[in-house]
Amino acid sequence: MAGATTKDYYQILGVSESADKPEIKKAYRKLAKQYHPDANPDDPRAAERFKEISEAYHVLSDDEKRQKYDRMRKFSPFDDFAGTAGGPRGGGARGRGFSFDDLGGLGDIFSSIFDFGRGRGKRQTAVRGRDVEYTVEVPFRTAARGGQITVNVPVTEECATCDGSGARPGTTTTRCPECNGSGHVSLGQGDFAISRPCPACFGRGEIATDPCPSCGGTGQVTSQRRVNLRVPAGVETGSRVRMSGMGERGPGGGAPGDLIVKFEVKKDHFFRRRGLDIYCTVPINIAQATLGSKLRVRTVDGKRVMLRIPPGTSSGTKFRIPKMGIEKDGRMGDQYVEIKITVPEKLDEKGKELIKEFAKEEGIKY
Ligand SMILES: [Zn+2]
Ligand SMILES: [Zn+2]
Repeated sequence: MAGATTKDYYQILGVSESADKPEIKKAYRKLAKQYHPDANPDDPRAAERFKEISEAYHVLSDDEKRQKYDRMRKFSPFDDFAGTAGGPRGGGARGRGFSFDDLGGLGDIFSSIFDFGRGRGKRQTAVRGRDVEYTVEVPFRTAARGGQITVNVPVTEECATCDGSGARPGTTTTRCPECNGSGHVSLGQGDFAISRPCPACFGRGEIATDPCPSCGGTGQVTSQRRVNLRVPAGVETGSRVRMSGMGERGPGGGAPGDLIVKFEVKKDHFFRRRGLDIYCTVPINIAQATLGSKLRVRTVDGKRVMLRIPPGTSSGTKFRIPKMGIEKDGRMGDQYVEIKITVPEKLDEKGKELIKEFAKEEGIKY
């Protein structure tokens, strides 16, 4: 798709060549929004610009592609052009098309930047494996006190048997006829053509004559990785833990990526969390509220604590059970028990008589 002509991606995104990833992303988002074809249905130039922006972002947001691109840029006519334009490289106004045609092999190197697939048959520089993100549901009690959880994390990674080539070890591959060895195919038309990894060769540009038995020729395997997780006490929804080297296998013998575990604390039907404190609501009836009572209240430890309700307790009153809240960094919250007085929906004759008696005593009209 690249051909042998390229553009100044830094200029297209309006960032400096030392721009970091967040800067690049920000610039891209802003421009993509502005030039999105949906937002400019009558302006064909917007579509062209949108395509350029996407292409620039695709390359600059990927460490490996950006590195290659930067190297290309160094050897490219950019320098000469910068000289004539009189601005610092990557900063001032730059022309659009730079041809690598005269530079022989450079064009080929450049087009390899546009490798959409996960590397071709004949890579192979060692690349660090990708990080895997996984969300784990944690029971409320485990989150409050900490504990161990075992989870199965699905990981799709380069096949270890064939090193991602898709070919049975010791056998050869041939150029893919579907994509002519480029590893990608174009979908759609004109300005909206999108390049996708070739489905016939899985983006490698090569097809195995004898497919690898472990991955069936895809070069990738998905497995369940069994991970024992230590859940830190006091963990909250959204907290993350990074487990070094537990992510995807690194292609070409690179270091494995990390596993990033995101915790999601399950709601409990009895306990609610507020900071380090735990709240719960306990219903009592009017007799208990009026005369006082003793309640056995569950704690997050799974124990029951005796709570004395004094006579004349009204609905909404909170009682504190010290040191029965969330534990975190050596600190411990409290548990609050909120009283909710429930009114009997139905009373038998005797109950009704008693309440009427009470009403008469209090001078209540009903
Ligand atoms: Zn394989
Ligand atoms: Zn192909």
